[in-house]
Amino acid sequence: MAELTLDHVTKRFADGGGDIVAVDDVSADIDDGEFIVLVGPSGCGKSTTLRMIAGLESVTEGTITLDDQAINDRQPADRDIAMVFQSYALYPHMTVRENMSFGLEESTDMPDDEIDERVESAAGMMGIDRLLDRKPGELSGGQQQRVALGRAIVRDPAVFLMDEPLSNLDAKLRSQMRTELQRIQEDLGVTTVYVTHDQTEAMTMGDRIAILDDGRLQQVATPLEAYHEPANQFVAGFIGEPSMNFFETTVENGRLVGDGFEYPLSEETQESIGSTDRVTLGVRPEDIELVDTVESDHDFRTVVDVVEPVGSGNNVYLAFEDSEEASELDMDESRTFVATIGGLRRVEAGQPAVARIPEDAIHLFDAETGDALR
Ligand code: ATP
Repeated sequence: MAELTLDHVTKRFADGGGDIVAVDDVSADIDDGEFIVLVGPSGCGKSTTLRMIAGLESVTEGTITLDDQAINDRQPADRDIAMVFQSYALYPHMTVRENMSFGLEESTDMPDDEIDERVESAAGMMGIDRLLDRKPGELSGGQQQRVALGRAIVRDPAVFLMDEPLSNLDAKLRSQMRTELQRIQEDLGVTTVYVTHDQTEAMTMGDRIAILDDGRLQQVATPLEAYHEPANQFVAGFIGEPSMNFFETTVENGRLVGDGFEYPLSEETQESIGSTDRVTLGVRPEDIELVDTVESDHDFRTVVDVVEPVGSGNNVYLAFEDSEEASELDMDESRTFVATIGGLRRVEAGQPAVARIPEDAIHLFDAETGDALR
């Protein structure tokens, strides 16, 4: 069993004039055997959270518990936690075998033959059994990371902590290692907290993802929940590629009125926004269709600004025909919106297009607080 709980955890760093709140009142329950991904932009507090769990950083306020025992004051070595870093942190003068066995030799009185057995088994799991007698300098980056992961596995810990372990690898190797890591984590059933700033990695790897911004936890949810039911505008914009489009609107007589468009709402949707009068309309690029003719009041005349081919299709940047942007010839990318369109439809910059934005695909946020309204 390894259930990890963060209860109102805060980390403040003293910084000359004032304090930096790196982690702000974060609470989360991580289940036994769960793979949870901590994701968010640079500087949001991911590494600090992980380092507090590992015991490499003190906790300013709050409690971290492992199986109902507070571990705030436990030394890192006494936490039964293994951490894997982005920089592999291997000892250059030791062989792979020595790198993997060193921790157990130093901190336990485990017999040599059992240590050997564990090293061989972890090396087999990571596919590095032929490299055991080499030194890190004789290995590729991918192989070194396998050694670092193997070294964590050898310890057979209650919890794995991983801080961007794949970010030094090239794209192809990274996606291969993602699947491999997931398989190994599932086989071993070890509770894992994995930090990344890469939302694709978070979406594909985590049983659940915890999204942080500015030290605050925004949402803990399965990847699909975070994608379909983001708790707020930050999560909505962070998850998904290209990012969700946002339009500032005011609510007038059951319609969202924005720059160059009016979007009528069904009664049910009107109820969900209550008396909020400034609403941010969110639409994912993949939920916008390009059609031939305007058939409903959720179809909009637009002008194509830029077409960006992305292999399987195109990202098409559009501006509402009646918006200020469209009338200015130098349409500015930041003021257009993007639709992801399958490969078959031909669209060209400068041409008119009809964008269909189905009501069941829209997201609505309180413009003031950013909270999701439905
Ligand atoms: P990245 O993805 O860039 O690694 P992160 O989400 O892991 O970022 P942290 O490294 O946890 O972010 O940093 C969170 C905040 O705390 C940042 O504002 C950072 O500057 C600050 N911080 C981190 N460590 C210290 C420290 N030792 N002293 C002062 N401030 C710190």
